[in-house]
Amino acid sequence: MTSSVFDSERLLFTPATPDTNAIPIIFAFPNEYSVGITSLGYQVVWATLAMRNDVQVSRLFTDTHEQLPRTPEIVGFSISWELDYVNILNLLESLEIPILATSRNDSQPIVFGGGPVLTANPEPFADFFDVILLGDGENLLGNFIEAYKEVRNASRQTQLKRLAQIPGIYVPSLYAVEYHAIDGAVKSINPISPEIPAVVQKQTYRGNMLSASTVVTEKAAWENIYMVEVVRSCPEMCRFCLASYLTLPFRTASLESSLIPAIERGLEVTNRLGLLGASVTQHPEI
Ligand code: SF4
Repeated sequence: MTSSVFDSERLLFTPATPDTNAIPIIFAFPNEYSVGITSLGYQVVWATLAMRNDVQVSRLFTDTHEQLPRTPEIVGFSISWELDYVNILNLLESLEIPILATSRNDSQPIVFGGGPVLTANPEPFADFFDVILLGDGENLLGNFIEAYKEVRNASRQTQLKRLAQIPGIYVPSLYAVEYHAIDGAVKSINPISPEIPAVVQKQTYRGNMLSASTVVTEKAAWENIYMVEVVRSCPEMCRFCLASYLTLPFRTASLESSLIPAIERGLEVTNRLGLLGASVTQHPEI
């Protein structure tokens, strides 16, 4: 293990100095550093956590990590590809965290997951997560941390019940899932007690400020790339297309207040720009 890859990073944000009682969080990407750091979603969530002084976040990849807390309270995964799932289980084992959520006790961290794969279908791997964040992370992540702070010293069960009240947070252990057959479709999903919401609403961010890179590094899979999100979703809505349906409605970044300032920030550290979106050319001002 080496931390030298982190030395090549040029940050486009200022990390906060964590408070003395900051919540220790490990935020993982279940693949190698070069892959994870090229994920705009991972970059943005990590920076969002790193800019808060009420948390102390450490990054973990399959091939390297920052200095990890001895007793993390929260362990999170950003999941972009289904084939990375096995790496999640390996990373949990390496952290000596039981892989099944129901086997974790009060002294073990809350394990959360988010990202396009889990938003599209959380159920196949629901047994491994205490908490699954569904939809856009812009507001969801902050709401998750704030709710956790309210119940930080409570029992695991109390924590999970509180977190389940946050729109967009699915706590699989608080729902009973029935199938038509052992290899068949889901028949029903019902909360196990009346105070748990019957429906978890996927969160949709409706602002016109979309994401941009928070870190540029030569170690990324796309060397020194600075990424800006130009559009989210796609108005064509081809029936097979997850990139369109998962993130509806179609949204475009504001040219004046989002895209141009973001690109100017990126050009200060690199001359490689990546325009991201399912359908970049659908931006009305392309
Ligand atoms: S991104 Fe491409 S495949 Fe997806 S809905 Fe748009 S045009 Fe269709």
